[in-house]
Amino acid sequence: MSKTLKLILGDQLNCRHSWFAQPSPDVVFVLMEVRQETDYVLHHAQKIIAIFAAMRDLARRLRAAGHSVHYLTIDDPDNRQSLPANLDRLLAHYEADAFAWQAPDEWRLDRQLADYAAGLSIPAGMDDSEHFYAGRHEAAQFFNARAAWVMEPFYRHMRKRHGVLMTGNAAPAGGQWNFDHDNREAWPGQPWEPADPRGRHDHSALWRTIEAAGVRSFGQPQADHFAWPLNREEALQQLEHFVRDALPHFGRYQDAMSLRAWRLFHSLLSFALNTKMLDPRTVVERVEAAWRDGAVPLESAEGYIRQILGWREYVRGVYWHRMPGYDRLNAFGHETALPHWFWSGDTRMRCLATAIGQSLQHAHSHHINRLMVIGNFALLAGLSPQELHQWYLGIYIDAFEWVELPNTLGMSQYADGGQLATKPYVSSAAYIDRMSDYCKGCHYQKKLRIGERACPYNALYWDFFARNEQRLGGNHRLGMVYRQLHRMSDADRQALQEQAAATRARLADL
Ligand SMILES: Cc1cc2nc3c(=O)[nH]c(=O)nc-3n(C[C@H](O)[C@H](O)[C@H](O)COP(=O)(O)OP(=O)(O)OC[C@H]3O[C@@H](n4cnc5c(N)ncnc54)[C@H](O)[C@@H]3O)c2cc1C
Ligand code: SF4
Repeated sequence: MSKTLKLILGDQLNCRHSWFAQPSPDVVFVLMEVRQETDYVLHHAQKIIAIFAAMRDLARRLRAAGHSVHYLTIDDPDNRQSLPANLDRLLAHYEADAFAWQAPDEWRLDRQLADYAAGLSIPAGMDDSEHFYAGRHEAAQFFNARAAWVMEPFYRHMRKRHGVLMTGNAAPAGGQWNFDHDNREAWPGQPWEPADPRGRHDHSALWRTIEAAGVRSFGQPQADHFAWPLNREEALQQLEHFVRDALPHFGRYQDAMSLRAWRLFHSLLSFALNTKMLDPRTVVERVEAAWRDGAVPLESAEGYIRQILGWREYVRGVYWHRMPGYDRLNAFGHETALPHWFWSGDTRMRCLATAIGQSLQHAHSHHINRLMVIGNFALLAGLSPQELHQWYLGIYIDAFEWVELPNTLGMSQYADGGQLATKPYVSSAAYIDRMSDYCKGCHYQKKLRIGERACPYNALYWDFFARNEQRLGGNHRLGMVYRQLHRMSDADRQALQEQAAATRARLADL
């Protein structure tokens, strides 16, 4: 009898994939927990638990639906701990005469499986993962050899192509494509963030297995009250709560940050989306329906849909266009190692202590903390974008290279020289103070540029622009910054430069 082995990767947990339409005696689905995947970067404990728990949940469901499943746990004595080695054994074990896999989203896995399949003597083929709106190379085709890729036209193309938030006359709903101007408010403390809608699981036994297998990790495991969804039903419940309780305020406060509310009005759906247990169409359609029903304002619905139909699809296009090699870009030549407090949150800078502390506690922090607190500091301080990329890839529950790398290297560090961002996302303390409650009570003084208690962001900010005038001075979006810099006296500029150098020399002690 013929037998096909079909491999399901840990971020391919789409229970509605066409592979699962009908059980077949000719097919064995394979899922494996392997050291190859736990060890390629140091991961947050919750990320490892969440992926393994969700893989185990999918395997149970497939078996219950009548499918044959071979599941290799991390401590299985037969587990050879890499995809090719396990596949060799399983193909032989089942005497398989065909092999199939779904298109991986990470370049390293794409290469590995393509090379592996090329060496097989049986038919082997890659199927679509049936998840994204756009194909791997659709953005590249859209931008058609342009060096700078501005997200907005791609997003409009996607809205039109998929008929999202459009009127009957092919015009954008509400007469505008973009409501960003209505979406930049600080959070005044109310409405209070909705209760965390996520259910809790006890994954203590799984965590003990992971630890006993010797897998290294960092961050809090929170295994006995684990919050991340395991499957589509849980993710859908989370989506419903989000749409009802948080989405109405999402647009207005999407850039806000607070010590008192780590989730604010964000959806926390990125893990469910990136592991494909939740389909982006389901999310976009639900959000559009909520607006059409009058339950949420258009600014919120549009602001949210832009993240998924726009940014998420767009960064994937950048990734597939620029890999391999994108991960090595370092336009500013920044080489400084990450200070120790990236792994502990132990710094007197209250914004960074909060954003990193949340990340260690929850394996998550929302976009503006990632971009305008952590990434901002890293770029101003000249930290190595490659080390930073490894850190972001490890710490966040939703971090898979196709989405993390363009966000870190491109958007946040400008290490690609500006393909993705039209200017570096950096700020002094003024922006962080405007958008958060971090500065009040900080050891450092947000208004001071010079001196022991001066906010480190301030001198680093001006020094960054002074150091990089040759590269950035001609950028019209930075005209105001450079005019301000040029108005400063030589003595002031010199003092800022010295303060910045002293700050960079004591990063570990800030
Ligand atoms: C330096 C840096 C690193 C990042 N790394 C990742 C990562 O590894 N994985 C990841 O999914 N997102 C990443 N992002 C984007 C964003 O921060 C997260 O998607 C978001 O915080 C996830 O939380 P949420 O589900 O509550 O998002 P919400 O604010 O509720 O947004 C809804 C959804 O939109 C999508 N989205 C929003 N912004 C982006 C974006 N810039 N790129 C792609 N998708 C986006 C996500 O799927 C998200 O779930 C990164 C951003 C920065 C600045
Ligand atoms: S004063 Fe500076 S270091 Fe302190 S919280 Fe504000 S921006 Fe961060």
